[in-house]
This record gives sequence, C-alpha cells and structure tokens, in this order.
Amino acid sequence: RSLPVDASEDGGPRAVSGACFSRVRPSPLQNPRLVAMSLPALALLGLEAPAADREAAEAEAALYFSGNRLLTGSEPAAHCYCGHQFGSFAGQLGDGAAMYLGEVLGSGGERWEIQLKGAGLTPFSRQADGRKVLRSSIREFLCSEAMFHLGIPTTRAGTCVTSDSKVIRDIFYDGNPKSEKCTVVLRIASTFIRFGSFEIFKPTDEYTGRKGPSVNRNDIRIQMLDYVISTFYPEIQEAYSDNSIQRNAAFFKEITKRTARLVAEWQCVGFCHGVLNTDNMSIVGLTIDYGPFGFMDRYDPEHICNGSDNTGRYAYNKQPEICKWNLGKLAEALVPELPLEISELILEEEYDAEFEKHYLQKMRKKLGLIQLELEEDSKLVSELLETMHLTGGDFTNIFYLLSSFSIDSDPSKLEDFLEKLTSQCASVEELKVAFKPQMDPRQLSMMLMLAQSNPQLFALIGTKANINKELERIEQFSKLQQLTAADLLSRNKRNWKEWLEKYRVRLQKEIESVSDADAWNTDHVKVMNSNNPKYILRNYIAQNAIEAAENGDFSEVRNVLKLLENPFQEAEGFREVKEDAEEEGASATAAA
Ligand code: AMP
Ligand code: MG
Ligand code: MG
Repeated sequence: RSLPVDASEDGGPRAVSGACFSRVRPSPLQNPRLVAMSLPALALLGLEAPAADREAAEAEAALYFSGNRLLTGSEPAAHCYCGHQFGSFAGQLGDGAAMYLGEVLGSGGERWEIQLKGAGLTPFSRQADGRKVLRSSIREFLCSEAMFHLGIPTTRAGTCVTSDSKVIRDIFYDGNPKSEKCTVVLRIASTFIRFGSFEIFKPTDEYTGRKGPSVNRNDIRIQMLDYVISTFYPEIQEAYSDNSIQRNAAFFKEITKRTARLVAEWQCVGFCHGVLNTDNMSIVGLTIDYGPFGFMDRYDPEHICNGSDNTGRYAYNKQPEICKWNLGKLAEALVPELPLEISELILEEEYDAEFEKHYLQKMRKKLGLIQLELEEDSKLVSELLETMHLTGGDFTNIFYLLSSFSIDSDPSKLEDFLEKLTSQCASVEELKVAFKPQMDPRQLSMMLMLAQSNPQLFALIGTKANINKELERIEQFSKLQQLTAADLLSRNKRNWKEWLEKYRVRLQKEIESVSDADAWNTDHVKVMNSNNPKYILRNYIAQNAIEAAENGDFSEVRNVLKLLENPFQEAEGFREVKEDAEEEGASATAAA
C-alpha cells in the first residue's frame, strides 16, 4: 500500500491504517564515503571483495549504501510496528530511521532482507529526523559483526557509510550542541520483523490508554503470521500444513526456545543489550537493534549499560526474565490465532528450562567440562561469578585465562596462575565504587522494620532482593575501608585459590572418567579456546575507533573489525592500551 512519506500534515505522528508497510525513499546525503565494510556479510548478498580498483569500488558502495542511488528492483519501504517500551505500551513506533530496500536471494536459495539504517524520514520518524550519526553507526556496525563471529544469532552489517550531511544531537560540549555526520549502516537479516510487529493489532491499551495504529484486522494478522511461519519456520509449516492453532503453538514454542537460548548466549559473553523493548525483539531470535549496548568489563550482575535506564529494568542479570516478559507480550498479540491459555503454558514449560539448559551447557564449555554433566556444575559456575564480583574480576579476561590453569597441584604454578588472575581484578578504589551503598540509611532501616513487622506486605512490594543486595554492599564496603593494596591482593588470592580448588576437584573427575587423559587435556583446552573470546567490543575500543573516524581516519574501525572477525585468536601486535589511549589518544590496535 503506497503512502507518501510527508503525508502527515502537522508533521506529527501519523497513523497508517490497514497496512504494515509504507513506501518510502531514502533521502540523499552529501558526499557519501565508505567507513568500512564487512566482506563476510556482503558475501551473503553475492557481493565480492573488489579485485582491482578498490577506490572505485568503495565509492560505488558508498553511493548505493548511503541510499543516494537505488539498486535495480529495489522498492524501499518502512515497516509499521508497535512496542512495549520500558514496560508499558508505547503505541505506534515503526521504522523511523530504517528503510527496507528489498530482498536478495543468495546462491544457495537463502533469502536476505536488506535495510538502510539512518536513510532519512519515514512516516514513522515521529519528532526525530530519521538520521543516525557516525558514533551510533560504528557501534552497530562493529557489534553486529562481532556478535556473528562470536557465534551469537544477530542481524548483520554489510557497510558503514558516512557523509558531509550534518544533524544536531543533544550532546553538549562546552555548552554548545554538537553537529554530527549523518551515517548509514547496511543491515542484513533473514527478516527484521519483531515481536512489536504483531502488536500493531492491539486495540487501545488498557493501562496507558495509548492506541495502536488501528490495524485491528484479523485478515492482516493471519497473513502476517502465515508469512512468518511459512517463510522463516518452514519445518513447522510443513509439519502442520495448515494454519491451525497447533501450528501456531509450535511456532510460539520455537521462538520461546530460540529467545531463551539467545539470552543464554548473551549472558555467557557478558553482553548487555540495553533496550529490550518488544520492538527490539526479533521474531526469528536474533540480536537486533544495537544502541546503548555494552559488554561488561568487570563482572557486575547488576550492570546497566543504558544511561537512561534509571530503574535497571534492562540490567545484565534482568535480561532473562525481561525477554520472558516480552514473549508474554508476543503471546498477547497472537490472540486469537493462539489462545493465551496455550501460549502461557508453553512459556512456563519451556522458557526457564531452555535457558538454564543452554546456559549451563555453554558455561561447561567455557570451563572445559567436556566429559561429564554433573548437577554440582551450576554451583561451580555461580561461585566463579561470585568470586569475580567480589574481586572485581574482568569477565572476559578471566574466562580466557582459565584454559591455562594446570590441574597438577604444583604450588609455584598455582602461585603464577594466581598472579595472573589477580592482575585482572579491581583495585581498592574501584571496589569502593562498585560496592558503594546506594540507599539512604534511614530508608534502609525503615525497610528492615517493615520486613520484620509485616513480612507479607513486604514480600508484596518485592523489595527483599534490594535489601539483601544493599546489606551485602554495606558489608563489602565496610571491609574495604581499612584495606591496603597488599591486603587486597592477598584477599583476592585467597578467594581465587578457594574457587580454583573446587575447580581442580571437578576437572579431576573429568580426567578420572576418560581413558586417555592427554587427549582429554588437548580437547578441553580446544573447547575452552573456542568458547572464551580474547576480544570483545569493549566500550573503549569502540570509542577509540569512533574518535579516529570522527577525525577522518577510518583505519581504526577497519582494524577493530579485523580483530573481531577472529575473536578467539590472539592477534599478533595487538596492544591493549586502555590507559595509554586515554592519555595520549593512542591507537587501540597496532597494525598486526
Ligand atoms: P530504538 O530505541 O532504537 O529501538 O527506537 C525506538 C523507536 O524510535 C523506533 O520506532 C525507531 O525507528 C525510532 N527512532 C530511533 N531513532 C530515530 C531517528 N533518528 N529518527 C526517527 N526515528 C527514530
Ligand atoms: Mg528499535
Ligand atoms: Mg535503535
């Protein structure tokens, strides 16, 4: 259904009734040029590395993937979706900055939807400008590809193209708004349909009173569900060959499991998405929409990466339950094609179990437990994380180090290993920040009184967990007061030694269960090394690449991309220079 982009007379939000797409056109950019491209992602579209004239090829890529020129056959459109943002229904959202360009059939028959993000106004831009800037685009570009190479389901990024066109973003330097370069990312995925795509059928929301875009037509909901299942879940369509409730239930069960596994993968690399609204949940179980995401450095279960997430709704340790909640919203949106009694049962029966199973399987691989699956493993993992938390250990580096832990109990080897582990832990000052009590002491004592005098009411307002965390913070914080660096080092060594003893006992059980201990040893290291990345997209690494790019030097983005394409392999010549970088603006990657 064709609708002009500028149809909204007052420039405000505009309802698109009876449709889930609107035709749009990318708005041209001034002087587009290629920041970087991902050859493996472009290969999905049958595009190859430029053989000869690289400069001409890059210029051509910039022309097409800025949206300045359209590929033959492309019919750009913006997708209408709704969403629950931070827990409440937000009404119509839609592709406000992204544009669907069409689909490309791969040589093996795979189908790839391609999209430009940041290509200008659409009917869904609301008060915003439909543009993206260099820093957000580089982050999305790099992280999409990083996640793929970590083996985590994700939308892909083919190119990042910047320009001389400017927009003003509300970042203030010296009191002045900063104008930033409009930048476009070419995104690739089997589909960008979201949970929120099904929420366009929601009538007025009972809590917020917000209206959906009044696509309250059952025929469209059925068409969209048929399309999603037959195109992206063909095995389910074939098994049921109709549009029965059973088919829809099988689909819901599958997306429930995929989502649970996806979140388990995030937890195991310390990835925090940051904005897990239902419009940022993929209907095929991909990581989608990279905004204020962050990989944790020091392990902190309550890590929040989104500066505007005041309540910590999307904190690291909340991700599993939040994605389950989002699936509940998808279930509501699928009524009456799938009755709620059925979907809720599926969610209860499948989600937690699938998450736990996948999480533990992955964690066993990260610990090199390749032979036995013991019940005690779950405790070993949580004790490891607790030790990381207490010592402020770096999540990625500590897992990476574990593969060099030797099982024989030679004390000097153990001491060497403890030195390495503790060098990845926080200083006293950093721990004081991490464990700083957060509640007003009077508020805390009132809550404690309430907890004692009226446990039922207390449980009802659900603050027990908060209180326990606060008490833990107080305890840790007070222990830190008199601690010297030397005290901390010996405390850290003690804590790590205690956990390593348990780990050693568990590894010993592996060895006792195999006939060839040498083969096991080689294999377990191999498994660990392909499950514990050396490189993740840390904020400072992205930041260095962004700053260089803002000064016109794209080589840093390209170097970081190269590094993240092989995240499990130590790159020669790579220096981790966080402090240097801050002081001297030095490069995060020396030429490998
Ligand atoms: P997000 O928080 O990125 O998931 O976006 C939420 C909603 O805001 C979606 O409907 C986006 O399309 C829209 N949006 C985000 N950035 C822009 C922008 N620069 N211009 C127009 N719409 C935007
Ligand atoms: Mg979004
Ligand atoms: Mg976004």
